[in-house]
Amino acid sequence: MSTRKRKANETRSTQSVKSGVSEATHPKRTKSSSGPGLVVIAFALATVAGAIYYAWSDAKNSENESNFDSVEERDASIFYVQDIPGKGKGVIAARDIQPGELIIYEDPLFIVPPKISVSPSALIHSNLQRVDPKAREAFFNLSYVNLPAHVDPEEDEAEVALAIFQTNAVAAGDGVGIFPRMARLNHGCSSAFNVVYTWREKEGALVVHALKGITKGQELLTTYATMRKPRDFRRAFLRERYGFECQCDVCSLPEELSKGSDERLVAISDLYSRFATWGQELIDGMEAIDVVKKIWALGDEEGYLSERGQLAADAAWVAAAHSDAAATREWAKVALRWYSYELGSDSEQSEHMSMIMENPRLHRSWGTRGVLSVGRPDGS
Ligand SMILES: [Zn+2]
Repeated sequence: MSTRKRKANETRSTQSVKSGVSEATHPKRTKSSSGPGLVVIAFALATVAGAIYYAWSDAKNSENESNFDSVEERDASIFYVQDIPGKGKGVIAARDIQPGELIIYEDPLFIVPPKISVSPSALIHSNLQRVDPKAREAFFNLSYVNLPAHVDPEEDEAEVALAIFQTNAVAAGDGVGIFPRMARLNHGCSSAFNVVYTWREKEGALVVHALKGITKGQELLTTYATMRKPRDFRRAFLRERYGFECQCDVCSLPEELSKGSDERLVAISDLYSRFATWGQELIDGMEAIDVVKKIWALGDEEGYLSERGQLAADAAWVAAAHSDAAATREWAKVALRWYSYELGSDSEQSEHMSMIMENPRLHRSWGTRGVLSVGRPDGS
């Protein structure tokens, strides 16, 4: 991230509707066994206790070292980092980028487990001794907020390292990891962000994909938190958590347009809550699918395209539960398309949706509710 914006122990996830319906595990910083969802990792560095362990071996670090130059070359073919007036540094597209393109594949510099038995600053300092000098330099080039007032940054490297970690780390499996390349990405709200990062548990790596088409020279922006909230709420949250005043395209809208955006985002949030009640059988499958379509239409209007893979996958879940094979297949097809953009066509979620398209009856929710024709995606 730039010198102004940081993701702290924050986790954004394209969350599922969370109706208790969804099974697809969203590797993105989620660790919930109950399925995908926005899981804010309650990682309190100051209160951790328990066994210490290092998640990453020397072998992993050696591998990083040997790949470093080629990774730099690959990055340079896609983006570069430059100063942006008023925002510190930002990541700029070096060429046109297509939706779904892999922008960054990054192993963690290190991961701090959820429980540690030494002081956080000592642990981070010790981890930094184990990485190569180039990677350490990349780490210290990241910015930070909330350094305690009594600390002199010139004198106390360990405290600075801790502040950098707290400002930039993101969820990685059960722990919290630092990814210096991804950490350069600035934040945008709602329609303003164009790339999405996801943790892949099986690969032990973080991936960043283009959610939408990006033109050469445009800044790559991700989102630090789920932003289906009004502007005032978003800005207050970002100011408090990351120490910057959001000036993204959506936050910079003139008053009237901003009001329209706020209303859409709140309506989308309410509709997600409504959809979730299908899990408690408070609405039937037809209404649940109708709600999905309303969310979709509002997303089109707002330009908010994130989380659509999960939304369509949840619609497929509902369709499968009601034994509607045609609708399950169609929704899985839509989910595959959007998962491919947001998470990558090689993601577990995309692969799962391909499988459901082939055979809807393999869906684990198949036949768990009464038979019903629930409705297919528009245009199918
Ligand atoms: Zn904003």
